[in-house]
Amino acid sequence: MECRNWIDGQQLGAEGGGLLPVIDPSTGETFARLAQSSEVDIDWAVQAARRASQGPWSRLSAAQRSQLLLRCARTLADAREELARLESRDTGKPLRQAQSDAAAIVRYFEFYAGAVDKLHGQTIPLGWEMTAFTLREPLGVTAHIIPWNYPLQIFGRSVAASLAAGNTCVVKPAEDASLSLLRVAELLHEAGLPAGVLNICTGLGKEAGQALAAHTDINHISFTGSPDTGRQVALQAAQNFVPVTLELGGKSPQIVFSDADLDAALPVVVNAIVQNAGQTCSAGSRVLIQRAIYGDFTERLAEAFKALLTGAASDNLDCGPLISAQQQARVRSYLENLDQDGIVVLAKGKLDSKAPAGGFYQVPVLLDHVPVNHRLAQEEIFGPVLVAQPFGTEQEAIDMANGTPYSLVAGVWTRDGARQVRMARQLRAGQVFVNNYGAAGGVELPFGGTGQSGIGREKGFEALYALTSLKTVALRHAAS
Ligand code: ADP
Repeated sequence: MECRNWIDGQQLGAEGGGLLPVIDPSTGETFARLAQSSEVDIDWAVQAARRASQGPWSRLSAAQRSQLLLRCARTLADAREELARLESRDTGKPLRQAQSDAAAIVRYFEFYAGAVDKLHGQTIPLGWEMTAFTLREPLGVTAHIIPWNYPLQIFGRSVAASLAAGNTCVVKPAEDASLSLLRVAELLHEAGLPAGVLNICTGLGKEAGQALAAHTDINHISFTGSPDTGRQVALQAAQNFVPVTLELGGKSPQIVFSDADLDAALPVVVNAIVQNAGQTCSAGSRVLIQRAIYGDFTERLAEAFKALLTGAASDNLDCGPLISAQQQARVRSYLENLDQDGIVVLAKGKLDSKAPAGGFYQVPVLLDHVPVNHRLAQEEIFGPVLVAQPFGTEQEAIDMANGTPYSLVAGVWTRDGARQVRMARQLRAGQVFVNNYGAAGGVELPFGGTGQSGIGREKGFEALYALTSLKTVALRHAAS
């Protein structure tokens, strides 16, 4: 299978003819090829998006744009199973997870279809002879640089929002996972999205990604990925005064107090690090446990970890492979020399006997008593590695939770209502979940962090503000 770019409503090979391998993480085998776009291809895509932003798309009424996005949602819903299978094969995620990702992209299009005609400006009182109001206008062409961990979901949250705001889009998916998005582009075209409104160029980050970030005719960049790459993207954008939304990951704590409903907390704490093999920006990668229950709760976590089975995506087990050999080596490097630092492995999951030899597997690992300043407790590993740490008082929990350069998400488990509120207010995180983690997807909930977790907010209504330009109009007129 040879996949081409999607530019101006049609498939187009890369100008240089280059191709990149698409590797199945469950087997390590190449099963397709992608166009290796250069700055020439990116420029075609941006030009197509610019033309479309000035065409009939810009003159649709809010209601018409809303109906079009609803048709997009329905078309994606009809293709859900096909998209899930493609995503599962390409990323290695168990089919069940890919099915929920395919359901999520549909929800994003539904949500933003419903938001289009509710995005209002304001009127501002100035006096009898003046009338002032604000207009929320499209920015123009928005760029979207997507990572490999949740292509369908992250495309949904940033592209559906941008289209709802009236922009046109150029998307650069990750070189490790582009297939589902190329198919989505065709489906949205079938649903009636005009040519040029959505363009997708595949390719390498340092080539196609950089060319998109540096392009002088884009008006916004949404980037999700690592802090190092995010910094480079922001530097490129700064050259052209292009605003950026950066979502760069986390080291999110789950804080379990001794009065918590431990039966409810246990499966959620496990899932928050095992889901997508820990390759989730908002993974709950630290579990902070109050001392009185530390032994008991870690024992229960260990039992749960030992029962986890890792294997091929198509076998739909608890955990699939990591995305690539490179990612596998990175995660393994964190697990070397644990003895030297006195860190004990409390439990490990099992590798399924049928798991193909060439796949990039890493079984889930639970680590005991990891010191607060150890790199395992400070850095984003992006694998199924859960770090357990004891705490005494509420204040100690807050200090530990807030004590990393990240601030994306935090989970709190306690039955004490006053403590729930105190914790929610004092945790440095873009989202705090109390007695749950993730709110079952949270399409409606603004998401993003500060510090090394990024800049700005995606999802929910909030995303629309960053994707529109606010114009203030003040009119002086006759008083009577
Ligand atoms: P990871 O390290 O997890 O693979 P990256 O942050 O490098 O994540 O990649 C996220 C996205 O950013 C991918 O689509 C990738 O191709 C792209 N990318 C990588 N390097 C650059 C760059 N220098 N400029 C723009 N985009 C890039």
